Amino acid sequence: MKITDIRATTVAVPLEAPLLHSNGAHWGRFIRTIVEVETDNGLIGLGELGGGGQSAEQAVRDLRSYLEGHDPFELEALRFKIANPTAGLYNNRTQLMAAIEFACIDLIGQHLDVPAHDLLGGRIRDSVPFASYLFFRYPGLGGEVRTPDQLVAHARALKDAHGFTVHKLKGGVFPPAYELDCYRALADAFPGDRLRYDPNSVLSLDEATRFGKAIEGLNNDYFEDPVYGLEGLRLIRERVDIPLATNTVVVNFEQLASNVMRRSVDVILLDTTFWGGIRACVKAAGICETFQLGVAVHSSGELGIQLATMLHLGAVLPNLTYAADAHYHHLTDDVIEGGKLAYTDGRIQVPSGPGLGIRLDRDKLARYAALYEELGGYPYDRDPGRPGWYPTLPNDRWADPAVPLDPIG
Ligand SMILES: [Mg+2]
Repeated sequence: MKITDIRATTVAVPLEAPLLHSNGAHWGRFIRTIVEVETDNGLIGLGELGGGGQSAEQAVRDLRSYLEGHDPFELEALRFKIANPTAGLYNNRTQLMAAIEFACIDLIGQHLDVPAHDLLGGRIRDSVPFASYLFFRYPGLGGEVRTPDQLVAHARALKDAHGFTVHKLKGGVFPPAYELDCYRALADAFPGDRLRYDPNSVLSLDEATRFGKAIEGLNNDYFEDPVYGLEGLRLIRERVDIPLATNTVVVNFEQLASNVMRRSVDVILLDTTFWGGIRACVKAAGICETFQLGVAVHSSGELGIQLATMLHLGAVLPNLTYAADAHYHHLTDDVIEGGKLAYTDGRIQVPSGPGLGIRLDRDKLARYAALYEELGGYPYDRDPGRPGWYPTLPNDRWADPAVPLDPIG
């Protein structure tokens, strides 16, 4: 089996509403680039990449000259052909590598007629549990999410619809004391459920310490990236009696080694894109198992292809003791055959078909490629409701919780 072609199509898929985070917002749609790798036996493997547009599509297509004739089975060679770590100082291709790796695993699975998880050690579980992943939201489907009452109502609607028993609050938007009230409201509303708080690294050491001490008695999974950097997280870990987690500063093996030698966080949130593929995450999880670090599956935003990689990863990790994260339930649609994968009792079934176990819906791909042409991208690190604003680390320029959220500003 040899690679003959690599194609890329950028799509825009609508979200139910614009979602706020500490760096800005998802402006009401996800922009993703769908990667198709074709082989000489007529198979097509699928990959997915965050962001898109001409430059992303071109970056994917440019890999054709590197990979024409490459055998998808040669996954280690793939890494050095396009993402050699020293060459990577000049051309950071980690995320491209991930998309191509997904497609190669999909191709191998299709060729052998086995699901991806059987290529990764075999599944430990048939379905993967997910957290509700709550955002403060501009008005959209389901209305504004700004106040503690609105947040609890939103969480309850998601719990009723999908069966979540773990709730993650994406914060770093409003002043920490206000977000603390919101978090406590969730704890009061769902006393049997578990919680996690993630302000995307924007708190100061003092604010993070205050926030962490205040929630110590709640049903926390972990305190996710309260401050930026391994040294800051190490100090919070000494001061606050809650496991610390990161998806920002342990995203490669060098950083994982540092965290093993001098522990800053307890839980590593593995992202199949940030780490450069599913297999890198499986390797990292093995190191975490040895050194008694927890693991969870991180979401950097996904459509069904990337979600499939997260499900196959979640299926094979013996030490996955936390629910995974996904933005998926905030989407209105998907580009895969059969529409969006469904949650049952807070879990999504691991695909059992060959390869990644999902196939492209060509009509949907065309529809959302056209929507991308119409709407274009958006600046992830800007908030449509606060023109001119940009975040600092630590941040002290919060959105005003007394002002109704209005994307027009
Ligand atoms: Mg995070």
